[in-house]
Amino acid sequence: SDKSSIVSFGEMLIDFVPTVSGVSLAEAPGFLKAPGGAPANVAIAVSRLGSKASFIGKLGDDEFGHMLADILKQNGVSGDGMLFDQGARTALAFVTLRADGEREFMFYRNPSADMLLTPEELNLDLIRSAKVFHYGSISLIVEPCRSAHLKAMEVAKESGALLSYDPNLRLPLWPSADEARKQILSIWDKADIIKVSDVELEFLTGSNKIDDETAMKLWRPNLTLLLITLGEKGSMYYTKYFHGSVDAFHVNTVDTTGAGDSFVGALLCKIVEDPTILENESKLREVLKFANACGAITTTKKGAIPALPTEAEVLALING
Ligand code: ADP
Repeated sequence: SDKSSIVSFGEMLIDFVPTVSGVSLAEAPGFLKAPGGAPANVAIAVSRLGSKASFIGKLGDDEFGHMLADILKQNGVSGDGMLFDQGARTALAFVTLRADGEREFMFYRNPSADMLLTPEELNLDLIRSAKVFHYGSISLIVEPCRSAHLKAMEVAKESGALLSYDPNLRLPLWPSADEARKQILSIWDKADIIKVSDVELEFLTGSNKIDDETAMKLWRPNLTLLLITLGEKGSMYYTKYFHGSVDAFHVNTVDTTGAGDSFVGALLCKIVEDPTILENESKLREVLKFANACGAITTTKKGAIPALPTEAEVLALING
């Protein structure tokens, strides 16, 4: 089988974003459709950089679901693991950044199609073909989606894939903060690669100091690579052998949505190309520079998917 691919499992949905910035959801005069969902963004990021990517997930057999399936296809992401649910509808999110700086979310998921993928419906051959299996659904705690994730992770691991996890914490979706922390950390040990944001680092450790001591609270002996992304401050990395940080690029940021997914997609592409970057610090630093550049470029345009860069755009930023 072709062991060159990155398989990403989770939700794809539509974010409805107010046509006017700085308003509450109730005040919004109208909404723009911004397709996304972190795991789908990662698959598209990988494909846009020229590597083979597949997406596993469920969409509603409705207008929104078909629109999202078309976006995957147009972006060269394999839909071999994608299904349409015959009952539930596509997940939707309404998201705004209010004038007071608070993010406001509202979700349609009662339940949405993505939450209903069962273990029996998984395309196991596709999962077995993965070199890297990435997951980080916002619905990872909900059955049957949770069981499907656990099975997929097990099958991927058995067939030699690296497991990559991004918790994608969206607190409003969880029953409570304690439950979120417990559930996220309960599957921590299974991953080889974990990427968290500075916000997630603080949430999971309870410490607001971003330093090695805090990061080490999230380290586990079986981890290969732990990454912490810091927005305009770049990223930090931890492995068994070395740790450090890599500066961000200065860009004209207009919307940070998707920066983390772009960063992860870039990193996973490079790991598939050359797994030895995980043991070689100078190689890893080069890769993180590339991933930081991807994240930076993604912040220069509105939306996530339209802003994900090609390799040429990344090299143009790196080489000035
Ligand atoms: P997340 O979306 O998970 O919170 P970040 O916002 O930290 O992730 O973004 C991931 C990476 O993208 C960062 O490590 C950084 O390299 C790059 N990035 C994000 N925001 C900016 C920014 N405002 N300026 C430059 N680079 C950025």
